[in-house]
Amino acid sequence: MRIDIATLFPDLCDTVMSESIIGRARRKECFELHCHQIRDYTLNKQRQVDDYPYGGGPGMVMNAQPIHDCCLEIIRQNEAQGLPRPHIVFMTAAGQPYTEEKARQLAQLPNLLLVCGHYEGMDERVIEELADEEISIGDYVLTGGELAALVVADSVLRLQPGVLSAPEGYQEESYWNGLLEYPQYTRPEVWQGRAVPPVLLSGHHANIEAWRAQQARERTRQRRPDLWEKYCKDRGETEKE
Ligand code: SAM
Repeated sequence: MRIDIATLFPDLCDTVMSESIIGRARRKECFELHCHQIRDYTLNKQRQVDDYPYGGGPGMVMNAQPIHDCCLEIIRQNEAQGLPRPHIVFMTAAGQPYTEEKARQLAQLPNLLLVCGHYEGMDERVIEELADEEISIGDYVLTGGELAALVVADSVLRLQPGVLSAPEGYQEESYWNGLLEYPQYTRPEVWQGRAVPPVLLSGHHANIEAWRAQQARERTRQRRPDLWEKYCKDRGETEKE
């Protein structure tokens, strides 16, 4: 998979994506990631990327032109590599809420372009012109789209072959099958007077699996009634089960 990020802070994105599990996988070439400076595509001497909002109001709005030209160059680079036009996602607070299900959908694509706004946001016309979709990572406002794009890139790239050492691991994790994950424990057996649940030390795989399934259900029911309701509905179960 190839991911491109269009941003005013390419070094920030590049640094984050060079660390830890994702950074290691990037060096192993499990995927390609490129960060692009939108400012390089301005047509004015000052390299200014924003202007006052029409209609007045606080703050500045990012101009359509440099974002547009940056995206066109990224599309050209992808196509020169034999890839299709990338799926283009604009990171916006007003976008569709991001979920693991969306991460799984995006992870199937050969290439993805994430566009980050800043200031008061981006001129709506460039979003209308280029976006395949707008994604929000949550019901709060960030100062820029970089953290949001990194959240999307990380959650999509960890699903690529070779990125996780135990790929089957993510299938038991929270949200994969609509439930939160069961609690996890490691050594020592007793810490600060708190013992590991005895079933986990029993070596009885069927009992361990049953305990984990029950814990996952109970946690989801208590902590996320919204997910629990959907889980039960999708399986035709009643919520009391
Ligand atoms: N004025 C915009 C609004 O009220 O919806 C918020 C602009 S925000 C300060 C600047 C940039 O941060 C946005 O253009 C977007 O790229 C990014 N951003 C902020 N919150 C976000 C969120 N929850 N999800 C995704 N991107 C977000």
